[in-house]
Amino acid sequence: MVMDFICEKCGQKYSRPTYTATSPKSTKEYWREKCDTEFGLCTECYKKEQEEKRQKAISEAGLPELAGSEKQVDWAVKIRFEKYQESERYVKNLKPKGVEAYERLFGTTEAKFWIDNRNMAFADLLKMVAAMVPADVEAEIKADEEKESKAKMQVLQPEKPIDETPVEIKVTESVVSVVSKKDNKIIEVCKNSGYSWKDGAWRKRISFRTGAAIDRAADIGNKLLSAGYPVAIDNSEAGKKAVSADFEPECTRWVTRGNGDGKFHIEWKGRDNKLYETARSLPKSSYSSPDVVVSVKYFREVEDFAGLYGFKFSPGALKAITEYKDGLEVEKVAPAKAKEAEKPKGLAGIMKETGVIEDLKDE
Ligand SMILES: [Zn+2]
Repeated sequence: MVMDFICEKCGQKYSRPTYTATSPKSTKEYWREKCDTEFGLCTECYKKEQEEKRQKAISEAGLPELAGSEKQVDWAVKIRFEKYQESERYVKNLKPKGVEAYERLFGTTEAKFWIDNRNMAFADLLKMVAAMVPADVEAEIKADEEKESKAKMQVLQPEKPIDETPVEIKVTESVVSVVSKKDNKIIEVCKNSGYSWKDGAWRKRISFRTGAAIDRAADIGNKLLSAGYPVAIDNSEAGKKAVSADFEPECTRWVTRGNGDGKFHIEWKGRDNKLYETARSLPKSSYSSPDVVVSVKYFREVEDFAGLYGFKFSPGALKAITEYKDGLEVEKVAPAKAKEAEKPKGLAGIMKETGVIEDLKDE
């Protein structure tokens, strides 16, 4: 909405649009109260102030005079200053070669150079100038960018946040941590996602079972955002994935290798009678609470079962299959036909034929 205010500097009336969406402070009530009072600067005074700030900063930056036509220089000074401001976040982390390129870049006094390259980001400009040593500088800049993206906590705000303080999600390679004030809903989300309380945070250890830390951080971030909590994630990739829900879901169905018996242990989350029956139909399966256990020699059947019902093999189970295969000596043979002899069938033979013995067997 366009509203009228009085400029704090020149006292003239001026109009400007107001927005109520950008901050919780800028509500309609807030603007209504400020309307027609001394507030902010008119366009002219704002421009003047910005220009003064810029001039002051330029002279403080100590950049050299530029060469070119008056118009070129005017324009180039602005461009160079933008790049200079952009450079500030990199500068303290540059290594000697980066510093050298930096000095060469800002030592460039040809106005045309700055105008020609006005659309390049500072990082790319620096790389270009350092073309003699691109790999090193690139690595330095990349390291800086990574450091920066790690240091910056990205706050993701759902449309109707139910709280103002963001829940913090921290990601390392081996652990995802969730830090928040005490809140039953958050506790429930964390517990249901397999987090446990340790040293003041809800934590999940990363292993082959969980998948990558970034995926798990995105996963819990997505759940918390969906529940209406603002979320701050210290990893921008995880943040993006939390919003887009584009992460690998956590697999809760596993075929592992039992520590004691070296057999396949088939395990899943929750109760599922149908799945249990199917798993128990695997050859010579047995039940060892809470797993269904199958010998490694039936790996083909277990692989089929795993494929059908979304089970994954643990690294140990995969190793068991390789070891089992390696341990088999396969010899291709063409068996000769046995001589036929008439033999009385006997009771056992008859029972076998009718399936009686199979039925009596207890396995
Ligand atoms: Zn003014």
